Amino acid sequence: MDSIYFDHAATTPVDERVLEAMLPYFSKMYGNANSAHQFGRDCKVAMEDSRELIASLIGAEPSEIIFTSGGTESDNAFIKGVFSALSKAGKTEIITSPIEHHAIIHPAEALKREGATITYLQPDKDGIISAEKVREAISDKTALVSLMHVNNEIGSINPIKEIAAVCNEKNIPFHSDTVQSVGKIPVNVKELGVNSISISAHKIYGPKGIGVLYVKNGTPWIPWLQGGSQERRRRGGTSNVTGIVGMAQSMKFALNEMEEHRAHFELLRKTAVEGLQKNCEGLFEINGPQQEGVPHILNIGFKPADNVPLDGEMLLLNLDIEGICVSNGSACTSGAVEPSHVLQGIGVDTNVGNSSIRVSFGKSNTVEQVQYFIEKLEQILERMMAKAS
Ligand SMILES: *Cc1c(COP(=O)(O)O)cnc(C)c1O
Repeated sequence: MDSIYFDHAATTPVDERVLEAMLPYFSKMYGNANSAHQFGRDCKVAMEDSRELIASLIGAEPSEIIFTSGGTESDNAFIKGVFSALSKAGKTEIITSPIEHHAIIHPAEALKREGATITYLQPDKDGIISAEKVREAISDKTALVSLMHVNNEIGSINPIKEIAAVCNEKNIPFHSDTVQSVGKIPVNVKELGVNSISISAHKIYGPKGIGVLYVKNGTPWIPWLQGGSQERRRRGGTSNVTGIVGMAQSMKFALNEMEEHRAHFELLRKTAVEGLQKNCEGLFEINGPQQEGVPHILNIGFKPADNVPLDGEMLLLNLDIEGICVSNGSACTSGAVEPSHVLQGIGVDTNVGNSSIRVSFGKSNTVEQVQYFIEKLEQILERMMAKAS
């Protein structure tokens, strides 16, 4: 069997149709979108058409769409930009959670040097933060709230609409990292009531290095990347027209085909879970939501056999040898292996966390691939456990 890629939450290949749309902008339509001549104008038109398409897909105004280099930049830009707009007025508190992507946690932590205080709201065991928790946390020092829509490791879905309602009532800018939700579940900024979201193209079959920061008009926010007058002076730098065209097309396909993909992911997930129940009974647990999360992410932890914890890193390598690519639930931070910050954040047992893997499905995965994975997994587990005992 060819290699099996189960790491779509890390990145996805570029869809052929997206690539097709992008190709002319590499070498034929190579103008700088800021140039006044014909080459520039052609690119400007492609860029603004893309912006309008993206805006219409998420219920935004075109003027509220800012192109960035990806999810990381969008997250950074909003956190830092709101903080710099509001901190002088004494609003220095950032409310977030310990299971956010590092593109939120690390810039928030860095702002401590500039006087920020960070309030981490504790998620429940499924990784969910309630709107009530947000309400209780908001103080007169709160500058912003940032809570992700779908968690990239465990697939939990936060009640973003309810959280946005609380923030709107208290007049606090609310940002949501929607990198893992766009194209998977409906994301409409008007319906959700958010001030800002981050999107990344390479998680939805678009190119790497391009993303969107949506900022609702009127939100207190100072751009942080200064340069030319691109993006209405909100993000300097020569426009990545090729990437922008690719991003718009990838969003169009992802949203148009969302229901079809969801049904497919549900089938793959069901096959995996039933296979695990049949072949690995008593040996595993599902980290995070059992049913209520997004179906393309499945985080599996293995329990210690005879008190010997299973080495997740070794499990991942053994799967890789069999041509099956998943990602791990642990990270080697400063020499010691620890469960990822997300698994720690939802209180997963350390041994189970260290033995966890994340399987994330994509549209071209098949039921046969999932069955093959379960088969190989069982063999590898048997081998590893025999060695350990
Ligand atoms: C991948 C990811 C990011 C980072 O996006 P990049 O475009 O790779 O910088 C941010 N947040 C979440 C939830 C992600 O899954």
